[in-house]
Amino acid sequence: MPINVFFAAGAESWPDYQVPLSNAFAEAGLDATLSDSAPDPASVDYLIFSPTRGTFDFSPYRNCKAVLSLWAGVERIVTNPTLTQPLCRMVDRELTEGMVEYVVGHVLRHHLGMDTHIRGQDGVWRHAALPPIARQRRVVILGMGALGSAAGQALAALNFPVTGWSRTQKTIPGITCLWGEDGLRAALGRADILVTLLPSTPETESLLNGARLGLMPRGSVIINPGRGPLIDDDALLAALDSGQIGHATLDVFRIEPLPPEHPYWGHPNVTVTPHIAADTRAGSAAKVVAENIRRSEAGEPLLYLVDRARGY
Ligand code: NAP
Repeated sequence: MPINVFFAAGAESWPDYQVPLSNAFAEAGLDATLSDSAPDPASVDYLIFSPTRGTFDFSPYRNCKAVLSLWAGVERIVTNPTLTQPLCRMVDRELTEGMVEYVVGHVLRHHLGMDTHIRGQDGVWRHAALPPIARQRRVVILGMGALGSAAGQALAALNFPVTGWSRTQKTIPGITCLWGEDGLRAALGRADILVTLLPSTPETESLLNGARLGLMPRGSVIINPGRGPLIDDDALLAALDSGQIGHATLDVFRIEPLPPEHPYWGHPNVTVTPHIAADTRAGSAAKVVAENIRRSEAGEPLLYLVDRARGY
């Protein structure tokens, strides 16, 4: 009997995924039937999902062995009360490469003060100060998972002194690893540039509040490609207005798309990017999905299994 795989990740992405998934299943040696509809939910063995699908009832898929997310961040899936099946999130080489490039690009923008020269094409020769070099600029990354650790290692390779912070203790070559509340205080105190790559969970809600923003060096920069709820928006706006935070580059927001009237738009010290830091790419993500189905069918442990209690 072929394995039944239901693509429930949104009609708009089906044309992008149909061929890469079919090819990846064949390469993995899977005898699978792939469809973007499931007339009999009880016959579905695996469900490929993304929150762009909107409201979804997982309960009729009672024989489904795993829900395979195309997104790395799963807060909108793991909180669905109808989900009882194992949930795997997306960890993928090209997704990670995209995030590393976004983080390195925006860190270098602020580190080199590129805006001064890009905006200042006014005949003024601004050679006032010795340009800084990376080893003099301390970068802190909150979240040392698949994305944070890769971004941290790329920045460390450019000589930035990198500190990473996570829930559990870690050892990552080239990165000073801190954890726990004391570790967070120490990390924020040295964050000339802060990158947030934490998941959105009840524990990380408004992690960057007014008190914690106040621990950062005056004029420091925040780059948030993690999730909007990590930041208390009112506290950040106040810190930007007071100069405590010099600039915020924000890719993710509590409400997306960011409403046109939101004060982040047009704030002189905020850069808004439209949740483009790292998109999942069908070609490489299809291979991750196929490998997880192969593993499940072979009785091997699933990769990137989400811990429901932790929420990521
Ligand atoms: P991951 O591998 O699950 O890593 C999450 C990291 O956060 C881990 O190091 C974890 O610590 C840490 N963490 C979680 N809760 C914590 C807490 N309460 N205190 C301290 N540390 C905590 O996730 P990932 O693949 O790196 O992705 C990170 C996030 O990036 C995703 O959840 C998603 O929100 C976001 N993302 C954004 C985009 C975009 O385009 N903007 C694209 C992809 C992903 P432990 O290692 O100790 O568990």
